Amino acid sequence: NKQVILKDYVVGLPKDSDMYVSTNSTIQLKVPEGSNGIVVKNLYLSCDPYNLVFMRKPVSDSYAFVKRVSDSHAFVKPGSPIIGFGVAKVLDSGNPNFKKGDLVWGTTVWEEYSLITDLQDIIKIQHTDVPLSYYTGILGMPGLTAYGGFYEVCSPKKGEHVFISAASGAVGQIVGQFAKLFGCYVVGSAGSKEKVELLKNKFRFDEAFNYKEEPDLDAALKRYFPKGIDIYFENVGGKMLDAVLLNMREHGRIAVCGMISQYNLDKPEGVHNLMHLISKRIRIEGFLVFDYYHLYPKFVELVLSYIAEGKIVYVEDIAEGLESGPAALVGLFTGRNVGKQIVLVAHE
Ligand code: NDP
Repeated sequence: NKQVILKDYVVGLPKDSDMYVSTNSTIQLKVPEGSNGIVVKNLYLSCDPYNLVFMRKPVSDSYAFVKRVSDSHAFVKPGSPIIGFGVAKVLDSGNPNFKKGDLVWGTTVWEEYSLITDLQDIIKIQHTDVPLSYYTGILGMPGLTAYGGFYEVCSPKKGEHVFISAASGAVGQIVGQFAKLFGCYVVGSAGSKEKVELLKNKFRFDEAFNYKEEPDLDAALKRYFPKGIDIYFENVGGKMLDAVLLNMREHGRIAVCGMISQYNLDKPEGVHNLMHLISKRIRIEGFLVFDYYHLYPKFVELVLSYIAEGKIVYVEDIAEGLESGPAALVGLFTGRNVGKQIVLVAHE
């Protein structure tokens, strides 16, 4: 059973060498007697900034995430395989809710075959007329993040002006398309020319810019939002948040989904413009996707209909083979991924 092993706790920016691929001679293809778990063959593994939570030395505020993850998985120890979301096929089941041949998505282990004993976030895939990999992205955790974050946290109104950072990624590309379909004016920022082209031509954002080529983010935002921003979907934090605060409109909303520019710093950068929250009566709210799992059926129905009608598209960046996993995961933190980063482990 080939596995991606955590070599040592990640410190600072993750590196390929924080992980290694190893082959364990035991493959468990049957659920042990008396267990109500499932044995799965992993097909796709999802690379998410979230993976890192379990690869760093545990700190108290990581427990909010761990609550959702099985005890047997929680906090990967050096020498153990890493964990994360994935799509898998059930090979054997000791649980009445799953049977051999079912396709599922949820928390799994970065290896070829896994025994999953905590099934609290394992969801059976009902619709297979879309690419299975979509359940790592647009129909999985990042999609639900975009859905909960945009419709529930941002309280959007038709015609509002929306700004999204890390806009071409797993979550951002969906938020932007939801916002366009809702009737908003949408601008995204991303870190390369190729990504900016995608935002404008593939995802149909109204405008997009490469933040790495903007010496003055405040001036860039003023160019695209001369009358200000109603909704900011925050994925990066740091300097971008500061510049956005200067450009928010009265009663604007900031949904704090993530702050990827800060995850690798020992001490997060200071935010200087928070006073603007007062005079402009801005609401800023952090959220976790886990708060919105109850909306999953409604979300899937909506997104499947959008896909079927060609109203929404999804760009994936697929790395082949478990061996490519470490580099693919690390690439999220340097912006190497173009679209949703996935690792293809095996075909069905
Ligand atoms: P992406 O697919 O967007 O990949 C990460 C992207 O972040 C990179 O491609 C890169 O894009 C950008 N990035 C990396 N480092 C930096 C940096 N230092 N400064 C600015 N941008 C950077 O990831 P996801 O869509 O999966 O995640 C987006 C955000 O949403 C993350 O912050 C993540 O933690 C958060 N998240 C939160 C959830 C929740 O429940 N609250 C659930 C899921 C995700 P570029 O080239 O454009 O810079």
